[in-house]
Amino acid sequence: MSMKILVTGAAGFIGAALCERLLQEGMQVVGLDNLNPYYPLALKRHRLARLETLASQCAGECGDGRRPGSFRFVPLDLVEREALLALMKDEGFEVVVNLAAQAGVRHSISQPFDYVDSNLVGFVNLLEACRAARPSHLLYASSSSVYGDDAAQPLQEAQVGERPLSLYAATKRANELMAYSYSHLYGMPVTGLRFFTVYGARGRPDMAPLRFARKLLAGEVIDVYNRGQMARDFTHVSDIVEGIFRLMPLPPAQVSSAAPSRVLNLGRGEPIALGDFINGLEAALCITARRRLLPMQPGDVERTWADTSALQALTGFRPVVSLATGLEELAEWARHYPSLLSETQDEREHEASEAARG
Ligand code: NAD
Repeated sequence: MSMKILVTGAAGFIGAALCERLLQEGMQVVGLDNLNPYYPLALKRHRLARLETLASQCAGECGDGRRPGSFRFVPLDLVEREALLALMKDEGFEVVVNLAAQAGVRHSISQPFDYVDSNLVGFVNLLEACRAARPSHLLYASSSSVYGDDAAQPLQEAQVGERPLSLYAATKRANELMAYSYSHLYGMPVTGLRFFTVYGARGRPDMAPLRFARKLLAGEVIDVYNRGQMARDFTHVSDIVEGIFRLMPLPPAQVSSAAPSRVLNLGRGEPIALGDFINGLEAALCITARRRLLPMQPGDVERTWADTSALQALTGFRPVVSLATGLEELAEWARHYPSLLSETQDEREHEASEAARG
């Protein structure tokens, strides 16, 4: 069945991977992104170029009467309220997947207003546009960071506390509360997805997996926070995409007066110590790492571990990509595109300040 879908953040890591999957499924996809310079634009353009190529292949291949998939890119910022509203009203999307956001925990400490603009103002603009255009389902990215560091593990959806450790986490929790209120007021079907540390080919250069790959390939020292004891529920991007895809046609139902709103964990369900993740990447790249063990960073949590039983009960799906398989795929891509692993502004500043401290 072909659907018309809006994916925001389509030039981003998860957004582009989702658009690829939707195209392969024959969907009519409109991808929106403001192409912000948080990390190098070359990577965002690389992802969009792949999507354009795939779209032309999909259009050519489908000669069997099925409607071929299509992709159209719209350069737009969620803060542009009127333009967003006009797009949503004109297009009449059946499903909206909001992956656009200012991401990154550490950057939210140095650049708080980027988060206020995209994650708060932009998110309300999207909710307002959905109120007017009425898609059958709005799915949006939340984050495992909403749990803070005092919830029992594995993390269950209902255990969320109100002690976010960074502004990034606070904006993601705020998104869940805002989405609930719109769902309650207007009967809007909404699903929030708490993603757990996503990795894979064409990933984010500000996150540990790509940073580690870049440093290994360049023979540089890897900074390992919390002396490698920090654990993350690393989840391969194809599992994240599969989870979103399965949930798209399953909007929460309005049962009596309850709002048609839910929030779900989307993670592998298996915490992996940072040290073990690096061991796996060393094996995939066949390079031995030089490590510098460091203390915890402000705003970071010690461990994340998703309880995925709610997702599984709803969709029958649980993430399946093993760490070894996921790292092979990441390593293969990283070897071919070393220039796209390049560092972010934040990282350069951090390294400069570390170097200045000696
Ligand atoms: P990403 O930075 O690669 O993608 C986000 C995209 O959104 C970028 O291309 C950016 O240009 C765009 N964008 C930002 N602000 C925008 C705005 N105001 N208007 C239009 N476009 C805008 O990040 P990602 O890793 O693909 O993350 C996607 C979503 O998932 C984000 O909401 C992020 O917070 C969330 N998330 C990601 C992870 C992860 O591990 N990658 C974990 C938890 C949650």
